Parts: sequence; C-alpha cells; structure tokens
Amino acid sequence: ATPTALMVGTGRGAQLGILIKGPEVLESTRRVDTIVLDKTGTVTTGRMTLLATHSADGTDKRDVLRLAGALEHASEHPLARAVAEAATARAGTLPTPEDFANLPGLGVQGVVEGHAVLVGRVRLLAEWEIHLPESLETARKAAEAAGRTAIAVAWDGEARGLLEVADAIKETSPEAVRQLRTLGLTPILLTGDNQAVAESVAAQVGIDQVIAEVMPEDKVGVVKRLQAEGRTVAMAGDGVNDAAALAQADLGLAMGTGTDAAIEAADLTLVRGDLRATADAVRLARRTLNTIR
Ligand code: ADP
Ligand code: MG
Repeated sequence: ATPTALMVGTGRGAQLGILIKGPEVLESTRRVDTIVLDKTGTVTTGRMTLLATHSADGTDKRDVLRLAGALEHASEHPLARAVAEAATARAGTLPTPEDFANLPGLGVQGVVEGHAVLVGRVRLLAEWEIHLPESLETARKAAEAAGRTAIAVAWDGEARGLLEVADAIKETSPEAVRQLRTLGLTPILLTGDNQAVAESVAAQVGIDQVIAEVMPEDKVGVVKRLQAEGRTVAMAGDGVNDAAALAQADLGLAMGTGTDAAIEAADLTLVRGDLRATADAVRLARRTLNTIR
C-alpha cells in the first residue's frame, strides 16, 4: 500500500465525517463481514423520555417519581437523565440521596429520606428477593413489547412502581442497516436492555439477530465469541460500557456524539453519530485499497 493512497483515503474519510486513527485501519475496515451495533445511543438517539409512571396499590405515583428521580439525578445514564428530568418537572426539587451507588448494567441504589431505594432492572430487584406485584408485571410486559424500557422502583424491601422510558430510533439507522447488508455485512444488535425491547428496535431497523441482556463487562466476550467463529468483526458503540468491545473488535467504530472512553478505544469515529457513515467507511476502504492493489 502506498502511503500517498492511504493518506488520500483518510483525507476523504474526514470529508465524509469519518475520523480514522491510522492508515492501517483501512485494511481491517475492508475485511469486516459482521457488524455488532450497540442499541442505546448508537442505533437509537439515546435521548430518552419518560412516557408513563405506574405505582403499586397504596403507593402514590408522585412518590415513585420523586424517590426514583432523587437517585437517578446522581447518575449519568441516559435512562437516568430522562427519569431525573421528568421527576424535577413534576415533583419539584428532589431530595439528595445518601450512600448512592451506581450499579453498571443494573441500575442505582441509595437512601432517600430514610428509605432504602432501588431503581433499575427487575433483575436488580430480584437480587434482593423483591418481586413485582401482578399489576406492575403486566405493565412491564406491555411496555417491553412496545419497545420501551421498563425501570422498576422499590423501597424498603417492596416493589412500588414502574417507569416506562423510550428512546427514538435515529432516522438514518434503517437506511444504514440496508446499506451494510448490501455491502455483505451481517448486522447484529447488542444491548444490556431487555430481549423484548431489543427485538422491537431490531425489527424497526431491519436487523434479525439480537443479543440482549448482556452485562457491560460481557460485551467484549460477545465480540470474542464471534471472532472465534472465524468472523471479522466491526463493533459500533457510544458508551463507556462499549469501550472494551470496541478495542477487541477488528474494527471499532465510535459515535462522535458518544463518550470519550468509546472514542479513545475505537479505530474510527463517526463524527455526526450517523450510522450510514459506517457503510461509507467500508466503501471508502474497499475503493482505496483496490486502487493500491
Ligand atoms: P445499553 O447496553 O442499552 O447501553 P446498559 O448496559 O447501560 O444498557 O444497561 C442495561 C440495563 O440496565 C438498562 O436497559 C436498564 O434496564 C438498566 N439500567 C442501567 N442503568 C440504569 C439506571 N441508571 N437506571 C435505571 N436502569 C438502569
Ligand atoms: Mg450505548
């Protein structure tokens, strides 16, 4: 490969909104056959909104929102921001939590106004042997079937509420998936979110393989497993929890709109966070390297 052609390739990438770490990246870009796409913030905008609040019998919805909001206010997770914003708008100033802990891939916990509060996945509550009453379980199933993330809220050892949060799919994601398929790549959706939510999002963008409910530290293992099958794997992500998988992948693609950790770990940055740039990168790499050969 002549250095000049590679430099022209990387320069053209910059014009397309693709920042390439080094000329050698073009070679792995040309070879990828599988692309793993993180859901939240990559396929979706990551700008979430709270759509509904449910409470268990005998619990006031405002208390659910206030106590959950107080904890989520201390978290930077996109889900947390949606909850904290809605809680502030509807319940006013939120109390300050004590003993706050962020539990990556699960939720948050802390003490609010003397109550031990848990906010997050049903699995987090299950670790404390707390189970949803039937009314909340019904609400959870309906929310997830509709592609919304259900966040459970418990305090003092009992499930008290359920929050429905939804995220919009990036307008350009279905077109990006179509283009990636045309280029011969197999798209796979990867997320820590629930299976039903993941399937709903996948269907909306035209992906038929889903790997859901993956803990943040296990995302890298998914990439390794696909590589062990003999695939050349690209991984696109935006979060701190994607960084290890981005580094492990044959080609790591970070959203320019994402976290610094993701951008540092990746080989390519899609400046505008538009997934169609992934297809542009593959086309660019193939063209650049074909010229050289
Ligand atoms: P993703 O892979 O979609 O970016 P994460 O690995 O960050 O998701 O989180 C996985 C799941 O854990 C979320 O879908 C959510 O159910 C739960 N979760 C994580 N953090 C929080 C939080 N701060 N509040 C509520 N739920 C959370
Ligand atoms: Mg993400």
